[in-house]
Amino acid sequence: MGRMTYEDSGMLRAYAGIDLDALRANVRTLRAKAPGAAFMAVLKADAYGHGMVPCARAAREAGADWLGTATPEEALALRAAGLGGRVLCWLWTPGGPWRACVDADIDVTVSARWALTEVTLAARAAGRPARVQLKIDAGLGRNGAQPADWPDLVHAARAAERDGLIRVTGVWAHFSCADEPGHPSIDRELAVFRRALRQAEDAGLTPEVRHIANSPGTLTLPESHFDLVRPGVAMYGISPVPQLGGPADFGLRPVMTLAARLASVKRVPGGHGVSYGHHYVTPGETTLALVPLGYADGVPRHASSAGPVLVAGKWRTVAGRVAMDQFVVDLGGDAASPGDEAVLFGPGDDGEPTAEDWARAAGTIAYEIVTRVGARVPRVYAGAGPVAGNG
Ligand SMILES: *Cc1c(COP(=O)(O)O)cnc(C)c1O
Repeated sequence: MGRMTYEDSGMLRAYAGIDLDALRANVRTLRAKAPGAAFMAVLKADAYGHGMVPCARAAREAGADWLGTATPEEALALRAAGLGGRVLCWLWTPGGPWRACVDADIDVTVSARWALTEVTLAARAAGRPARVQLKIDAGLGRNGAQPADWPDLVHAARAAERDGLIRVTGVWAHFSCADEPGHPSIDRELAVFRRALRQAEDAGLTPEVRHIANSPGTLTLPESHFDLVRPGVAMYGISPVPQLGGPADFGLRPVMTLAARLASVKRVPGGHGVSYGHHYVTPGETTLALVPLGYADGVPRHASSAGPVLVAGKWRTVAGRVAMDQFVVDLGGDAASPGDEAVLFGPGDDGEPTAEDWARAAGTIAYEIVTRVGARVPRVYAGAGPVAGNG
């Protein structure tokens, strides 16, 4: 399978090509890995930079039962775009849009008593029960109720349920180290989660869905699937456990291709400094090509003198510093013309680097590489049916 051609990229300066057929295939692959569980497509952060609404539609078409977002604003944006069905969001702060989420029939997550108070007030005002999922901190140390506070939270939630103010639809947690196979925290966190589920049941709660599995859990820990899995990065075709294999080893295909058109190609003499600080100096007379993407577009400045890019048929390395809007590559003796395509990353099957290669060059994870592609880069969709453009 060759790299997708993005017809709509025309003569754009740069674009992020989004292969929605690959996303749909990834959803089907991941669903097959957790056949007994419902599937939540995680769409936070503009679908990890891929464009939330087109990705949500494609995920639904491929059978996603639930859509998941971090913030309530993201969940409300899905509803505003016409996406129906079940939607869960989890990252709340005091005074958040509880009432709007109750009205929009969004499942909300409660990790503490203050949030339970705010959601019950919103339900009273709305005149209908809120759908609430309770979150336990099984060991990640981020959001979620501490195990010591859990019995109090489940009893208060059950009381609100008896009063007709909420319906507890789910109980869930999030792993800390599921991407490190065999890490001792995995079994410990599963045990904490199971105890929290028993306590919720003992308090009289009857959640529809119990869930803890992210992408690594979905792919490598069948015992973590429970009633629902919540993969994010794997749906976008990035391996969540690079030490176990790349996307193809898990039957996944990268969804995003980041490319640009050369803005300048010119001959320069030897000894010519390149980009801010002159961290690269041409070793002899050579050809420099200018790639019009920079850190404002999400190209990590940490990848200065390190990031790979396919230009004129070969991998090149960023020459010197990545600037805000552009970086340079040294083509040596090779020829190229302004307007030729430079591919920073893609699925990798036409010889281009991958997001994982950029992650290694920048000392980060591929999640961050795709998620940080900036708003200035148009997303161009293929396999979308009617959807195209920067939606
Ligand atoms: C981001 C996120 C996920 C998805 O994680 P991946 O590692 O991308 O699969 C699942 N659940 C929660 C709560 C998240 O914040």
